[in-house]
Amino acid sequence: MPVFKTILETKKQRIKYNGSKCGLIPTMGSLHKGHLSLIKKSLKRDDDIWVSIFINPTQFNCEKDLKKYPKNLDEDLEKIKSISKKINVFLPAESEIYPKKIESSKFNMNNLNNIFEGVDRPGHFEGVLTVVSKLFKIINPDNAYFGEKDFQQLCIIKNWQKHNNIPVNIIASPTIREKNGLAMSSRNCLLSKSIRNEAGFIFKSLSECKKICRNGNEIKEKLLEDFNKHLAFKLNYVACIDTNSFLEINEFRKFKESRLLISASVEGVRLIDNIALNN
Ligand code: AMP
Repeated sequence: MPVFKTILETKKQRIKYNGSKCGLIPTMGSLHKGHLSLIKKSLKRDDDIWVSIFINPTQFNCEKDLKKYPKNLDEDLEKIKSISKKINVFLPAESEIYPKKIESSKFNMNNLNNIFEGVDRPGHFEGVLTVVSKLFKIINPDNAYFGEKDFQQLCIIKNWQKHNNIPVNIIASPTIREKNGLAMSSRNCLLSKSIRNEAGFIFKSLSECKKICRNGNEIKEKLLEDFNKHLAFKLNYVACIDTNSFLEINEFRKFKESRLLISASVEGVRLIDNIALNN
């Protein structure tokens, strides 16, 4: 399977396939079935498929979090190879992506970077857009695939693409879950077995909220009640949003696209999840 470590090699390779549909799946590695679902989606639509594996330092606002981020390169390459041997892997060193200084560029995100995840993780979305914009310039894909699990990230990338006329289709893909409902995440392996099992309550709770609650206040009450039964878990925020404006709403109606977003911390690991309320 072709693995490229430099921008130069990568660009040369891309030129060879000029004219064929290119799909990019940006990842930070420690691949799980959520990542693989994005790769499989690209396989159905694209001819020249690129998976990037790069733990992007600028999107971590905490050094400790960056240091303990799981790394499983050999397994990652095996997993990609088992899907198809013709998938290209872009595996740059930090100095390749940040040759001068490890810092984010500035972006106007219409304040989407200052709410929810952005409150507890200042600079996170600037880091995400910095690396995504660099990857887009290097690979020049037609399609780029992102998971709905990181819903705020997905919306920020979509908005940035739209407002800056970036010629890449942003393709969203549904959240893949563990058997107990916990959204798959590379960080889940940092949880103890018992907490990982217990964490299944979060998605159960979101699904029940969707079924029985009539407005945002009822949802918040129900989630607080559920979290009170799982004291190891700290609820960071819960919000019902209008998917288009990303503004918090209390009344969600069938004809409006709305989502319930949640973030919780346990054993020093931040978990996020979300569910569509209108379908
Ligand atoms: P990461 O490696 O965490 O940066 O994730 C790379 C991409 O995979 C992002 O677009 C994520 O939203 C997506 N992703 C992560 N977890 C899941 C999941 N459980 N289901 C679907 N996509 C996911």
